[in-house]
Amino acid sequence: MRVLITGAAGFLGSHLVDRFLADGCEVVGVDNLVTGSRANLEHLEREPCFDLIEHDISKPLFVEPKLDGVLHFASPASPVDYNALPIQTLKAGGPGTHNALGIALRHRSRFLLASTSEVYGDPKVHPQLEEYRGNVNPVGPRSVYDEAKRYAEAMTMAYHRTHSLDTRIVRIFNTYGARMRPADGRVVSNFIVQGLRGAAMTIYGTGEQTRSFCHVEDQIEGIVRLFHSERVDPINIGNPDESTILDLAAIVGEETGSRTAPVFRPLPPDDPAVRCPDISAARRELGWGPTIGLRDGVRKTIPYFRGLVEQA
Ligand code: UDP
Repeated sequence: MRVLITGAAGFLGSHLVDRFLADGCEVVGVDNLVTGSRANLEHLEREPCFDLIEHDISKPLFVEPKLDGVLHFASPASPVDYNALPIQTLKAGGPGTHNALGIALRHRSRFLLASTSEVYGDPKVHPQLEEYRGNVNPVGPRSVYDEAKRYAEAMTMAYHRTHSLDTRIVRIFNTYGARMRPADGRVVSNFIVQGLRGAAMTIYGTGEQTRSFCHVEDQIEGIVRLFHSERVDPINIGNPDESTILDLAAIVGEETGSRTAPVFRPLPPDDPAVRCPDISAARRELGWGPTIGLRDGVRKTIPYFRGLVEQA
């Protein structure tokens, strides 16, 4: 099997590349390296089954020979990144998705879209089931990501309905692990780096807002199972074990050995108050559920950030 993965040099993209190679596939990666990093693929320099094309997927791309799968993972994905790159984010989700679908259609290959829990916005239904239509501000600072992904889902379903393209949509909830960028501003990476440096963890708002954190190994397993399944409707993949940001700070403090008191900063606009996936569809249809709890996952992730902090 030969698959194309956009965003291949990113956090999730690079882990997916590794997984498809380990499963015996040939992989073509596409990335314009705007938020991705070659360092995430360094270990594959001599890998004959892997090629990286440096390209912006919001512009057309022709790939030969035959592909069996296209997985569209290219997009700035952290609030700090998509606020710094708002138009690129809309283009990755808009024309980028259209081009990735076009490649899949030309090859008649399976297509998988990386969507997000952000399609639910600041949810009024808790936990979030796939049927929930969300509460998204269409013009707020998060809109460039949320609306791009909602458009991407609509475009994916249009290709499915119009061209009978074989499509999958994964709604990814907060995921963490090695290869996150230390400066991408996400809470797990910020807290671990702050903890390792003995700096104060920056808690936005009261810290009582919740997220549900999934370790990258669990996330990749869920995505691969979805790819090989027959589920066309969007499906949530995430860890339903919900924590407050204060809980996370306490765990990271204990695991990094930091005793510095946290500092409180203003809550960014439209920051969702709660987020937790209902994963009954994934359990039922993919036989998937998370296996790595937050404390164990944080423990697994610390050595990667320790390496970066020591280099700096
Ligand atoms: N957050 C925080 N301190 C930080 C970074 C983030 O308290 O240094 C909060 C943020 O306001 C949000 C949650 O942690 O409520 C998760 O933020 P993240 O950027 O990781 O992802 P989001 O789920 O908001 O996309």
